Amino acid sequence: MALVDTLLGLPDGGEHAGPDSRTIRLLLELRSGGVTDTRVLAAMERTPRDLFVPEPFRDQAYTDVALPLGTHQSVSAPSVVGRMTEALDVGERMKVLEIGTGSGYHAAVLSRLCRRLYTVERRRDLVAEAERRFARLGLPNITSRVGDGLAGWPEQAPFDRIMVTAAASRPPETLLAQLKEGGTMVVPVGIDGRDQRLLRLHRGPDGFDVDDLGPVVFVPLVPEASARD
Ligand code: SAH
Repeated sequence: MALVDTLLGLPDGGEHAGPDSRTIRLLLELRSGGVTDTRVLAAMERTPRDLFVPEPFRDQAYTDVALPLGTHQSVSAPSVVGRMTEALDVGERMKVLEIGTGSGYHAAVLSRLCRRLYTVERRRDLVAEAERRFARLGLPNITSRVGDGLAGWPEQAPFDRIMVTAAASRPPETLLAQLKEGGTMVVPVGIDGRDQRLLRLHRGPDGFDVDDLGPVVFVPLVPEASARD
């Protein structure tokens, strides 16, 4: 029985084997930590995080901590992925763009909630590995590519939702321009780790409304011109 059904007291849909105890513990922790959207919890329940973290950290895959991916990358903590995803309010007919594929974990969670998920990452090795994971999990609605996320994905724009998973000094103009009217972007802003805030921008007919969703810590979005690794 799916955990979310269990929590809601719904009958067993019989679609897949139940989650293991580590997943149950993590999901209960997320719920008590404020991630309450059952669609988001169900998407996370169905996305095994251990597949997305490097071998030496696999035993920590179901604890609520960020884990290193490489030199300047990390897989965000599950509670951060949950909070950001809930804040983005993704609908099943939507076209969504993610910036910073990293391990592919957040992309995999998002892809279960929308029609089509596009994701951009500057590191070729990470894209290749993430694509292998998407194939293994059978996630057919994700398209990834190597590139500068600050340029967005103009050929596929506009998007209903944009999720930025690395910090910018301010909400990137190019990405804002690729958001539909009525669309929403979630982006960590501030490059100083001590003073980063998660912002949600909503595009209305006359401009953007901004909500401050609180402090976060993300690796910076690297401008291509200064990319060295
Ligand atoms: N969403 C990821 C975590 C992202 S960490 C996950 O679920 O695992 C931030 C990622 O942004 C890193 O992989 C980093 O390489 C990437 N990144 C940094 N600057 C970028 C840029 N300008 N364009 C695309 N990706 C970038």
